[in-house]
Amino acid sequence: IRLSKPGSLKLLKQIKSAPSTRDIPVILITSKRLCRKLSMGYELGAYDYILRPFFKEEVLARVSNITFACEKMKELEKLLDRDYLTGLYNRRFFMERFFEELAWSARYNEPLSLMMLDIDYFKKVNDTYGHGCGDEILKQIAVTLSSVLRTEDIVARYGGEEFIVMLPNIGMEGASIVAEKLRSTVQDRKFFCEDKGITLNLTISIGVTTHYGDADLSLDRIIGQADGALYDAKKGGRNRVVVYRQ
Ligand code: GH3
Ligand code: MG
Ligand code: MG
Repeated sequence: IRLSKPGSLKLLKQIKSAPSTRDIPVILITSKRLCRKLSMGYELGAYDYILRPFFKEEVLARVSNITFACEKMKELEKLLDRDYLTGLYNRRFFMERFFEELAWSARYNEPLSLMMLDIDYFKKVNDTYGHGCGDEILKQIAVTLSSVLRTEDIVARYGGEEFIVMLPNIGMEGASIVAEKLRSTVQDRKFFCEDKGITLNLTISIGVTTHYGDADLSLDRIIGQADGALYDAKKGGRNRVVVYRQ
């Protein structure tokens, strides 16, 4: 962005406020006399600046350095946000996003649904075929869940063989349909364990709750509702979806 152009800081502010563009590194092109504008640019999130007059080689070298640094940063963020086994988001990342989405849904009065999923009788898989096979199957479950969900949905590994899903802007009816689709997709597919040369069937139980943004509920209370519904699904015989009702 050329700082001497009118509206340059406004453009920078726009780039840095939209989630889809805020990670784009911005270099400011400036001359010495614009140093006040330059410091404002840094405050708004500019990455670097280049003084005029400049050489093409200098710009290319900086862009290459910034690209390298940003790629490393992305790799690190991925390590922080993801579960190492399944590649799904981890619980820490999920809770952060859930907090943001909850605030959003309250502000715009949009529904937000939450699901807790737990693999049925998973201990038996480990006991029968070993922990390595259990791990392989956890990965296959992760792929299955992701294949059913939309990109806007956030799915994370909550703990051992428990997963949590957030469905932004989806009400209770929609969430039940998604949960049922997840349940039946897992039931209908085969899971594999290469080492042992076996295939097996598995099922999951799901607890669902929907928050309509009006009540002043805490994250823990909402998760508690989904967890309670999951408990009822287990008690009711497993391989089923239970929706929490007030
Ligand atoms: P339920 O239907 O009641 O959920 O029965 P369950 O056997 O699935 O439940 P339980 O909580 O008794 O056992 C969960 C098992 O999940 C225990 C543990 O061996 C297994 N598990 C948890 N994390 C991992 C993991 O990272 N890898 C593997 N292989 N197994 C795991
Ligand atoms: Mg469990
Ligand atoms: Mg289980």
